[in-house]
Amino acid sequence: MSGASTGDHSASGEAAEPTPAADRAFDAVIFDMDGVLVDTEPIWEHVRAAFARRHSRHWGPEDHPYVAGRSSREWAAAMRERLGIAAGEDEIERAIVVDVVEVLRRDGAPPIAGAADAVRRIAGQTRTALASSAHREIIAATLAAVGLDGTFDAVVSSDDVARGKPNPDVFLEAARRVGVPPRGCLVVEDSLNGVLAGRAAGMTVLLVPIESFPAPPRAVEAADWVLDRLERFDPPTPACLAEVARPGGGR
Ligand SMILES: [Mg+2]
Repeated sequence: MSGASTGDHSASGEAAEPTPAADRAFDAVIFDMDGVLVDTEPIWEHVRAAFARRHSRHWGPEDHPYVAGRSSREWAAAMRERLGIAAGEDEIERAIVVDVVEVLRRDGAPPIAGAADAVRRIAGQTRTALASSAHREIIAATLAAVGLDGTFDAVVSSDDVARGKPNPDVFLEAARRVGVPPRGCLVVEDSLNGVLAGRAAGMTVLLVPIESFPAPPRAVEAADWVLDRLERFDPPTPACLAEVARPGGGR
């Protein structure tokens, strides 16, 4: 019987890899952290601006694309170059990480309404991983602050892999750790670099834009799906996305 009623598709003859069944949960959902689970980008930018001021330099929104989604090594190098300061990259990285962790511990992580609950619900139905560009200390402090420590089957920092986003390394490592091929994974992202990384990994990419740091139009063009709020992704299936999300340009 198989193949007898596949209509137009039977003509292709291609041995396509299995795709997730529309009404079945994705085999794994891999979340970005900053801008998806917590609204910490403003903290980062505040800390970077303060660091720049201490060195009699300026850091502003125009500098953000050079660090968004990058690994600690990469953003430290980008900051050094853009600020044109003598401080070493290790020194820059340390100064920023220490200040961000301090703010997180003192003030908590600014939550995104409904996001943590959505993650807990999704984690009850499929494998989940966190794939963040943030330093491990910052990931730990953030997950503790929003009560998501222990929720994910795997937590990967870009610092654990060779290259940060927009390279696919951190998502591929997350997929490897949860034992799911890239094709069965859904990536949830808010930034252009993250969307590009998910696409480069061969995964389906859901863009959930955040108001405080809106992704550029290119992110919408590259994403498979765009959804205004993560909590609407219920159940976590391809069929649900088709119903509640709008297609991105990558579809
Ligand atoms: Mg992000």
